[in-house]
Amino acid sequence: MLESKLILGIIGGGQLGSMLCESAKMLNLKTVILSDDKNAPAQNFCNKFLYSKYDNLKKINEFINLVDVVTYEFENIPIKILNFISKKKKLLPNPRINEIIQNRKTEKEFINKLKIKTTPWAYIASKKDIENNKNLLPGILKTCTLGYDGKGQEILNDLNDFKKSHFSEDYILEKLVNLKKEISVIITRYDNGKISLYEPIENKHKNQILIKSIIPANINNEIYDQSLDVAKKIAENLGYVGTMCVEFFIDEKQNLIVNEIAPRVHNSGHLTINAFTVSQFENHIRAVCNLDIKNNVKVSNARMINVLGEEIHKYRKLSFDKNEFFYDYLKKEIKDKRKMGHLTILQN
Ligand code: ADP
Ligand code: MG
Repeated sequence: MLESKLILGIIGGGQLGSMLCESAKMLNLKTVILSDDKNAPAQNFCNKFLYSKYDNLKKINEFINLVDVVTYEFENIPIKILNFISKKKKLLPNPRINEIIQNRKTEKEFINKLKIKTTPWAYIASKKDIENNKNLLPGILKTCTLGYDGKGQEILNDLNDFKKSHFSEDYILEKLVNLKKEISVIITRYDNGKISLYEPIENKHKNQILIKSIIPANINNEIYDQSLDVAKKIAENLGYVGTMCVEFFIDEKQNLIVNEIAPRVHNSGHLTINAFTVSQFENHIRAVCNLDIKNNVKVSNARMINVLGEEIHKYRKLSFDKNEFFYDYLKKEIKDKRKMGHLTILQN
């Protein structure tokens, strides 16, 4: 059924943007993508594509004038620009949220203030700060900003491992957790405060990159309930509108620890496209465009496999069964470990 004639602006042109465009189409919304990548794959899925650096105010104004609502598919957009846009157009999630989550230090402070457990961590601005936090070794040094897919991270086994002679950035040092499992919870919160939660998803990483997501997660009832409660508490305290993801670690003592928050749709939620009647993308659009909330029902268990780098060649040649759904992100350049596509397999 056709629901809306709104035009949705999306900042960022990666695969998450493409999948938002696909959902928007189903809801009879038009999409405009703004991206600083000339080759952004989402240009194959949107109605209009604007190529611009994120600090080009002339282009940003052009973008704003084309759309009714603005959202984003990645969190590292300069806050100044988000604030500029939100003064002129409805922009969701609110930039205030982005400001907290863009920086690992303020993100963790926010989570800890809610009395939610994270890995033990410390803010690191100098070599001395590492010496003063020896108790966190072995640990992972992470840049406070701009990290993704394990980029900007370095494992420190002991003090000798840290060879950088000077600091060019701010970091946090996190204790290395002996991970038993990783799960994520995708949650959508609507303008009226209503919440729609997906069941916890079990995630497997390799070299700090997500390679597989599975539902149902193999976890006990207590962790199941606790993870949904934590996601709800975070979304409510952020006053969040849209879809977001909370990534969790489960350690060997069955402690549930928040790893990080993604203020956007998330890779681990790709399986929601096929396994639920309302995907994380559709839910996001319904929330930010203030459309009707649709009852969401799980239709199948599922597993999602990320297709990385050169693997895409093999997948492009395969034929698939009717319970298998292959998505090619149509990226022009194949790079080692780059997310090129994914396959979701429904299995009951
Ligand atoms: P990104 O922003 O790149 O997703 P994350 O902090 O989520 O960064 O780290 C990526 C992955 O690296 C995690 O999903 C996990 O597998 C591993 N990892 C990160 N921090 C830790 C930690 N403190 N202990 C153990 N593994 C970790
Ligand atoms: Mg992560």
